[in-house]
Amino acid sequence: MSKETSYIGKVLDTVIKRNHAESEFHQAVKEVLETLEPVIKKHPEFENAGILERIVEPERQIIFRVPWQDDKGKVQVNRAFRIQFNSALGPYKGGLRFHPSVYSGIVKFLGFEQIFKNSLTGLMMGGGKGGADFDPKGKSDSEVMRFCQSFMTELYRHIGADTDVPAGDIGVGGREVGYMFGQWKRITKLFSGVLTGKGLDFAGSLVRTEATGYGCVYFCEEMLKARNTSFGGKTVVISGSGNVAIYAHQKATELGAKVVAMSDSGGFIYDDRGVDLDTVKRLKEVERKRIKEYVTEHKSAKYTEGCLGIWGVKCDVALPSATQNELDKNAAETLVKNGCIAVAEGANMPSTPSAVNVFLKNKVSFGPGKAANAGGVATSGLEMAQNSQRLAWTFEKVDRKLHQIMVDIHSSAMAASEEYGVPGNLVAGSNIAGFIKVAKAMMAQGVV
Ligand code: NDP
Repeated sequence: MSKETSYIGKVLDTVIKRNHAESEFHQAVKEVLETLEPVIKKHPEFENAGILERIVEPERQIIFRVPWQDDKGKVQVNRAFRIQFNSALGPYKGGLRFHPSVYSGIVKFLGFEQIFKNSLTGLMMGGGKGGADFDPKGKSDSEVMRFCQSFMTELYRHIGADTDVPAGDIGVGGREVGYMFGQWKRITKLFSGVLTGKGLDFAGSLVRTEATGYGCVYFCEEMLKARNTSFGGKTVVISGSGNVAIYAHQKATELGAKVVAMSDSGGFIYDDRGVDLDTVKRLKEVERKRIKEYVTEHKSAKYTEGCLGIWGVKCDVALPSATQNELDKNAAETLVKNGCIAVAEGANMPSTPSAVNVFLKNKVSFGPGKAANAGGVATSGLEMAQNSQRLAWTFEKVDRKLHQIMVDIHSSAMAASEEYGVPGNLVAGSNIAGFIKVAKAMMAQGVV
């Protein structure tokens, strides 16, 4: 084992020991550190400065109780987290996830990825993430409001427009951000840009709702351009039917593709005429129903129970946009066998490490989440800029900036992959380009 490998190996061992039974976090750290070997070789000063040891250890971890009353008057208790991972580049920035599976390992993996993603956007944002094991599904609006108010009654102490600016993620959309913002304002008396993803009626930014999905498609468009092709005439499969999936569908369709399958945690729909986005938007955004309801309105479409089957649908482009580890090695092999040429991750870490290897080995263009889904946080950064200036930019202006940011991320990841001897490998390129900026800022700021 080379000296560089042993340094990385030692750091990984410590992460595993210190963060017992947090497999998603181990997976995310391993994936990043393994690609940094050539960087450590070129910058031996990083080892002396303990950059890797520091970057894998959150600056601060907050865990708190969230008590709230359900509609029957019964008290419920959830556990919540805010992990402030790294502030070398700016205030902590990253979403809040409300889902029953949330625990420290998930929040840490997301917070860790966020450091590099935010760095890639070129905006000055540190990395953080949070959430709670609360399930908004099946809850009334009043229950969700009471939960959000109780959650913010503790969280407000730890966040601020220049300290830590949370946003949405799974289970946290405009409704939840609105309730949390209201409670923040009530407690602090401040009307400031402390959360992003706010409604357009109260200092939100145009395009923020669409940003992650649009950004993922813009990024994928660059991947396709590098293969001398485009979305025109392509068949696309998108997992999930939430915020990211819906707007990825919209942009891919605008660019001439046909989206034939979408899913939720229950199963997936297949519609060979193209999935009708208006139906999905109404079912999911307005009525909060299950995706299987789609087939009651579209008789020729088919619903299949279970999530994994979606990867068996023949497509040219796949955009996994639901959740972590939703696309495994078998699914990747099936996609390759069916002629898929590009995979861009709308979700965070949706492909398992062995699935990623299958894509890379088979020359499928692969855009990892920390680059391909960075459009959401980038537009959050643009929302923060508008809030600071007390301005509201037009849809076209924000969309133009988002598009340029995604093009720039693709080219800086490509450039890093070439400079460090892995040309075209966007996994390594994104990790390296994101890491170097943070590492240099950490070096400049001393041992903190
Ligand atoms: P939403 O809550 O809007 O939608 C999530 C979708 O994924 C739903 O269709 C949901 O189905 C499905 N899903 C969630 N958990 C699971 C699971 N365990 N198994 C199968 N399906 C699941 O979330 P978003 O669209 O905002 O987020 C999707 C992904 O994109 C996440 O990985 C998130 O971290 C990532 N992301 C989001 C950003 C944003 O701006 N929103 C920014 C960058 C990344 P069901 O309704 O049945 O639960």
